[in-house]
Amino acid sequence: MKKLPLPKFGIVLKTLITSLGIGVISLIIIFYLLPQISSEIKIAVFVGGLYLFGFLLFSYSLYLGFTLFLALKVRNTLNFLIISAKSIASGNLEIELNRNAPSELGEAITALENLRVSMRDRINFAQEEKDRAEAILFNVGEGVFAINLRGEIIIFNKIAEKLVGIGRDQILGQKYDQVLQFTNERTKESYGQFINEVLLEGKSVTLPTDTILVTGGKSEIPVAVNSSPIKNQKGIIVGGIVVFRDISHEKEVEEIRTDLISIASHQLRTPLSEIKGLISLLNDGIAGQMNKGQKEYLDLLTIANERMINLVNDLLNISRLEQGRLQLNFQVVSLEELTSEVFKSLQLKSSENSQTLTLSIDPNLPKVTADPEKTKEIISNLIDNALKYTYKNGKIQVRVTSTTDGVWVLVKDSGVGIPKDKYKDLFKKFSRVENPLSNMISGSGLGLYAAKQLVERQSGKIWFESVEGKGSTFGFVLPATKIK
Ligand code: ADP
Repeated sequence: MKKLPLPKFGIVLKTLITSLGIGVISLIIIFYLLPQISSEIKIAVFVGGLYLFGFLLFSYSLYLGFTLFLALKVRNTLNFLIISAKSIASGNLEIELNRNAPSELGEAITALENLRVSMRDRINFAQEEKDRAEAILFNVGEGVFAINLRGEIIIFNKIAEKLVGIGRDQILGQKYDQVLQFTNERTKESYGQFINEVLLEGKSVTLPTDTILVTGGKSEIPVAVNSSPIKNQKGIIVGGIVVFRDISHEKEVEEIRTDLISIASHQLRTPLSEIKGLISLLNDGIAGQMNKGQKEYLDLLTIANERMINLVNDLLNISRLEQGRLQLNFQVVSLEELTSEVFKSLQLKSSENSQTLTLSIDPNLPKVTADPEKTKEIISNLIDNALKYTYKNGKIQVRVTSTTDGVWVLVKDSGVGIPKDKYKDLFKKFSRVENPLSNMISGSGLGLYAAKQLVERQSGKIWFESVEGKGSTFGFVLPATKIK
């Protein structure tokens, strides 16, 4: 370390030499240029001059010594302060300052010591908080990793190590997409871009349920993945955190359930079709003419059988969708035409209920790329629900329109509406919401679930809004086909 420089004494020396010079010149003038002055006076002046010079020399020496002493003292104390400040700055916060401090530093050293203690306490507190957060993250029951803005892994917890099969020492500091890949289970298309939405747009992203994690060791694990940005106190994004969970077991259970439903529905389809055929034969009088009472029972049997057939068909549809066996037949189609067809087929049902069913179609709608049969099923489901859950004499308005998102089919009814606390369950499998009409209406709770799956398989979105007791609007949008 550079020591502080001592004060310069050149000025003092110059003053001494100048006064010596002036003395010598004065003596020459007195002795040689003024001969008329008596020699006693000259000697007296000379001796007086000598005394004066001696006195000056003595005073200067005293001044010089004292100044030097003070300078050395100040330099030592300042050096102590500088060394202490540097030691604090370099993070050495454990050594107490006052012990070896020169006494004259007084308040300065006390202030510096207070600074050191408060810095040490704050750093200790921050370190404890960090250790605690790390311990929680490290031991949490799901795989967790965090990345910085460069996409490098900065935290990698125990479960993540176990799932990926790579130790954190090998993974920390590496680019996340070089060691871990989240891809679509079937198409193997990478979902890697989700991290940009987290880091650049600050969005929380949940990856689709068909996500698999491809690890460095090339093994594939089905995972549920959620990610969120990490923001500092000023709200600036400084990284991202990804939480992932092995859902192999859940998938297996789900597969068994879907297989069971699929097998059971297949097995039920044949006897139900046979019952339908037999009812029809009985109706035609194959076993003789039936009286009024017998006919009424047969009608009830027909309704119950139809319900069973619809349920089995719904179940089969769902299991095909979930097993990825449902092949969509994509074509460029007009949603206004498909909606008009469905509208016509349901007009009779609405007039039976004394309901007003109207259709309005905006002009110049673009075409969409979709499976026409499946899209008609979606439209039919939404209009049929509107008819089912609207009282007699109610109003159902169907509208086909377009926005920047694509072409919309909207079905607005003046029906029973849906309570707010049931919104979240509406599109779940087998979800039926209690309402004043639901007891009289049969349903499987599969219609909206299937509609949502089908809309999403066609890159669209399903939407609704509802006011309990006033009515609901259900709708879906499919992206407009780009004209090449
Ligand atoms: P389902 O009609 O067979 O019960 P869905 O999946 O089609 O099954 O509908 C699920 C539930 O959502 C229904 O039971 C009903 O309570 C509610 N729902 C659907 N559409 C409407 C609507 N337009 N108005 C009020 N409730 C509705």
